[in-house]
Amino acid sequence: MELVIENVSKTYANGVRALDGVSLTIRTGMFGLVGPNGSGKTTLMRTIATLQDPDEGSIRLGPTDVLQDKEAVRRVLGYLPQEVGVYPNINAVTLLSHLATLKGITNRTEREHAVENLLKRVGLWDDRKKKLGTFSGGMKQRFGIAQALLGNPELIIVDEPTAGLDPEERNKFLNHLSEIGESVIVILSTHIVDDVAQVCNDMAIIREGFVLHKGEPQAALDEIRGNAKPELDEFFENHRVLTTRLRAGKTIAHVLADERPGEGFDGADPDLQDFYFMKLRRVNGNGNGGRARGGGNGRDRSMLERDGHVTAVDSGKGR
Ligand code: ADP
Ligand code: MG
Repeated sequence: MELVIENVSKTYANGVRALDGVSLTIRTGMFGLVGPNGSGKTTLMRTIATLQDPDEGSIRLGPTDVLQDKEAVRRVLGYLPQEVGVYPNINAVTLLSHLATLKGITNRTEREHAVENLLKRVGLWDDRKKKLGTFSGGMKQRFGIAQALLGNPELIIVDEPTAGLDPEERNKFLNHLSEIGESVIVILSTHIVDDVAQVCNDMAIIREGFVLHKGEPQAALDEIRGNAKPELDEFFENHRVLTTRLRAGKTIAHVLADERPGEGFDGADPDLQDFYFMKLRRVNGNGNGGRARGGGNGRDRSMLERDGHVTAVDSGKGR
């Protein structure tokens, strides 16, 4: 099964162009759609989930025209929206059973079976009699996954499920999610690059409604570890700071360079986050770094406008 999105655009009534000619082919497995807030992820997820229409473009799921034959899509769709309201006074097993009925699992034995299986699968069986209002964020999201899996969907969409989860809950959630991504299409939208690095076998980077990059995470890492050489002029002109992050109170900068640029730098393995920021800063390939919203400062951006791939190095001392 393949989901083929072609040239999908959407401008909201307020003039915001949320999607700008998006084309993606998404195959069985875990697909990560990564981008900063406001980049159009939810708009695209809701469009695929048949909850809203684009202005132009087409979407096909296998033989089904998604924008025309919405009912057919809904029958095979499992959807975990970004904003989920829960019914705080109902327990997990009761609500899931109710949702199963709505999903068309009317045979009682079959339904009980499905509900038990799903709650066990997401690690909530022991908590099945607890009211949803008492669930932690991670438990609610895992309940959301169980709900999305009712009726054995072939297309599963989860919109920013890890935002707001603590590291342990996040890990648990991603592990449960990756277990289901083997025989179906799972689209995971996130602004957390590590989510994609952890569980996705394919991905796209989106910003301001525009797909900046698509491909496998491994290929992205290969690209950033690649070999085109920049010309070295002066120290700061040529230090292409990809990411800066705080580690134990020190700022660690990942810088693109051919060789050790100076004291305090050590070789480092670039990661997917470095790649993500490299892409975000080269908007539409025209080097319009001024639109970048990622980490780093203005100077970093102008340095990043030029093309070239080199090895990343860590500045252990920070700047
Ligand atoms: P993301 O999920 O990546 O944060 P969204 O798809 O929610 O992005 O939003 C993309 C852009 O569209 C944002 O600028 C947002 O403010 C705008 N937007 C989203 N929904 C609406 C809406 N219903 N009406 C007007 N603008 C919207
Ligand atoms: Mg969103």
